[in-house]
Amino acid sequence: MVQPVSRPIRGRYAPSPTGRLHLGNVRTALLSWLQIRALGGTYVMRIEDVDTGRSRPGFEATLLEDLRWLGLDWDEGPRIGGPHGPYRQSECSERYAEALARLDTFECTCTRKEVRAAAAAGLGTEPVYPGTCVAGPTHLDRARAVRWCAPDQTVTVTDGRMGTRTENLRRDAGSFLLRRTDGDWAYNLAVVVDDGFMGITHVLRGADLWSSTPRQVGLAQALGLQAPAFTHAPLLCGPDGEKLSKKHGAPDVAALREAAEDPRRVVAWLARSVGLAKEGVRTASAAELVADFAVEAIEDRPLPPSPDPWRL
Ligand code: GLU
Ligand code: ZN
Repeated sequence: MVQPVSRPIRGRYAPSPTGRLHLGNVRTALLSWLQIRALGGTYVMRIEDVDTGRSRPGFEATLLEDLRWLGLDWDEGPRIGGPHGPYRQSECSERYAEALARLDTFECTCTRKEVRAAAAAGLGTEPVYPGTCVAGPTHLDRARAVRWCAPDQTVTVTDGRMGTRTENLRRDAGSFLLRRTDGDWAYNLAVVVDDGFMGITHVLRGADLWSSTPRQVGLAQALGLQAPAFTHAPLLCGPDGEKLSKKHGAPDVAALREAAEDPRRVVAWLARSVGLAKEGVRTASAAELVADFAVEAIEDRPLPPSPDPWRL
């Protein structure tokens, strides 16, 4: 085990500008910001717009405004710049191409449907690639994606809240995508390269990404990058226990802002929902929560059953 060298503390929020932020998104942003501010670190805003088909500059502008409105600030980011830019993934192609060139990869012409049909069910959300094109692309007339030849290597990750997860990269993650057939960079490559390049030491993000963490750590190791310490926070769920989405009728943050809601009431609601503020606390600023913040204090609380669970 390599002794970690102490590095300056740096965290980030890495939203994808593919829609409006809801209360669940900003709760994760708040927790990530609190972690870094409590540690006295540098906070980075990184726009994860690698999915060019779904990303919109308008969503970026709205989400940055939402975060500022909630009292979250950042030291480096897309408009203010900083020493580790660019801070928009759509502008970082060279960085990803350099990383890709250093990895053991192969081209793949399989469609999603073909992969799903041929794959055994994996541990992650994506099916494990069955290895169809390892010896060469199977359809010469099709566009080519690029996959990583995942090594036969075991990775163990210890999370700040979730315990430990161990995976064999080849068996459990398989040869996952680094670049898609449409030329877009894959999330897993972009996130690993950028966290490494930007010197990110602490990542706090939604629990839905916990299953992707071992493969990201494995990829970081293959690139000679030091992986950050991870903490996965509970996802905000609707009264039915499912991850918050449009169907739950929760207001999006921009709507609250446009309706002249008090952002301190929103922050207090978010803090109460993870046990960082007492039930009676109706208003709070993000800055007021810094002093008492601890990752261990984050609770996974169900929403109280009520006719309007989103009432602030
Ligand atoms: N861009 C990802 C998302 O919006 C987050 C990536 C991460 O935090 O690692 O879901
Ligand atoms: Zn293939």
